[in-house]
Amino acid sequence: MATRIHILDERVINRIAAGEVVERPVSIVKELLENSIDAGATSIQIDIENGGKKLVRVRDDGSGMGHDDAFLALERHATSKLRSEKDLVGVATMGFRGEALASIASVSKLKLMTSEGTKEGGTEIIIEGGVQRGAKRIGMGRGTVIEVRNLFFNVPVRRKFLKKNQTETAHIHEAVTRFALAHPAVGFNYREDGKVKIAPPPGKSTLDRIRALYSKDVRESLIEVDRSFEEYRIHGYVARPPYAKSNMRSVLTFVNGRSVRDRLINSAIGRAFTNLIERGRYPLAILFLELPPEDVDVNVHPQKAEVRFVRPRDVHELIVDGVHEALTGAPFRAPPGPPEPIWPKPPTDPLHKHLREDPPPREHRRDPEPPEPQRPMELPRPQPSQPAVMGNEPGRFSSLGIVGGIPGSFVVLYDDKELVVMDHHAAHERILFEDLKAAERKGESFEIQDLLIPRLLEYSPVEARALAAQLDLLRAVGFRVEEFGESDFIVKGVPSRFGNPDLEQLFGSLVDVMLNTGVKGDPETLKEELLKDLACKAAVKESSPLQPREIRAILKDLDRIGSLETCPHGRPIVTRFRLDEIRKKLGRK
Ligand code: ADP
Ligand code: MG
Repeated sequence: MATRIHILDERVINRIAAGEVVERPVSIVKELLENSIDAGATSIQIDIENGGKKLVRVRDDGSGMGHDDAFLALERHATSKLRSEKDLVGVATMGFRGEALASIASVSKLKLMTSEGTKEGGTEIIIEGGVQRGAKRIGMGRGTVIEVRNLFFNVPVRRKFLKKNQTETAHIHEAVTRFALAHPAVGFNYREDGKVKIAPPPGKSTLDRIRALYSKDVRESLIEVDRSFEEYRIHGYVARPPYAKSNMRSVLTFVNGRSVRDRLINSAIGRAFTNLIERGRYPLAILFLELPPEDVDVNVHPQKAEVRFVRPRDVHELIVDGVHEALTGAPFRAPPGPPEPIWPKPPTDPLHKHLREDPPPREHRRDPEPPEPQRPMELPRPQPSQPAVMGNEPGRFSSLGIVGGIPGSFVVLYDDKELVVMDHHAAHERILFEDLKAAERKGESFEIQDLLIPRLLEYSPVEARALAAQLDLLRAVGFRVEEFGESDFIVKGVPSRFGNPDLEQLFGSLVDVMLNTGVKGDPETLKEELLKDLACKAAVKESSPLQPREIRAILKDLDRIGSLETCPHGRPIVTRFRLDEIRKKLGRK
């Protein structure tokens, strides 16, 4: 009796754990591939149907398992570690810890076929929703086949969370590609609904693998990266600009052979490409970072692998230097002064020749820096002349005459003594920042614009936790945002003054601030930084031409907030040229 109750407990606990760790079909694919690689496979076949919801099957020629081990592999679990809800979260971020198969089997119909290729023959075990439905001896050569059907058939709530087949398929395709790149000696054959998508044969090197996976034009634009610093090494390939993609999926990175997606690494790659690639576009990069295992905590999560480095600055620098050296022939040398103009634009940059209507903003968008940056992020711009002293009497800005906006740059204003050049982005940013602070302090939110279609944003558990902690702040300034599922959020409304923001970018940037500033612990500083970031993202772009009516509104608002003269990052909003000096220069009396 006691034994039966115990088994039921295990099943329930496995299912709870599975709910935490088996997020979606791609999590299963990753676990199964990892097991096949661990088993020494040289050839792996992956089949999925309906985005993996109907079927995920992984067949390998690895070591296989003996009869008894086959049962043990499915029985193994870590229930003793799951005592509280907190522990479940721990499991989610720490990976499966030897319970992948048990977890998967508890939320699907799983069939295991395995053999060590000995006289003993093979074993087949069928488990449905954690309950063993059958087991027998089968004839089979060395290797293992694991078939996972009808994911979440017994957990309808979770089933509902799954995305369209197409989305799940894309995640799986990417995961298989990453495995294939990390293990060039292993042959892969990956099929979606019976159609072969990638089938790289066993190769000798990463380059062999890239040749098998990418098109000719990509292969021809690749440059090798290889740079070391002490026991740290970055190596791999990047594509020469202007080759660029519109999302981060083309940046594939590995730490000690394990596929990761990490902010610090991505930001370093982005920095190396600064001014070589358009903002908002991403390079193709396949990069491997090798470092002593004790210098990195590879915190494996089924969705997004994150890493913590003992020496984040060194890692950042090595990557920036390595990639930059490959691209330009010299390591990255940031000038001691302002971080903005890092190196001159290449003379023939085709991306900039075709001027678009709305060229990407080049203002304060800041690359996420490695933790504890030493340099100030923003320095005052060099000023063409000493600004005249400025009174603060009310109406000072609104009394200025408007000459107009210079397309793509500044606004020109005047009074009887001065020509005033205004950075309208900086001005608007300051206004929004002051208004956001006031809204937050007084609890009177901005007017909310409901979104026609609520927007789902997905994050890793670490990011989600950081974001969840700041929801009150975001709500206070007019975002209608709710937690949704384990680490997703739904945005239903935005402050109407923000127009129609790119929410993914906006929230992504906020999360960066949370993770970079948040760790230092001072909640007030973090709040300020978040509001600054919001103001910056929502402010008119320097490239957007302003109508006189809009310039007028900005001038009025500047007076309303107290005629402040710098943007929240400390850069001046206006610079002045005295008319009598201009007169002198023009040779007039
Ligand atoms: P873990 O990989 O953390 O040990 P799993 O639940 O993923 O936990 O797998 C349990 C065990 O089953 C593995 O330790 C391994 O011994 C065995 N196993 C799983 N998949 C395979 C495979 N494809 N080939 C050989 N053995 C496997
Ligand atoms: Mg495993």
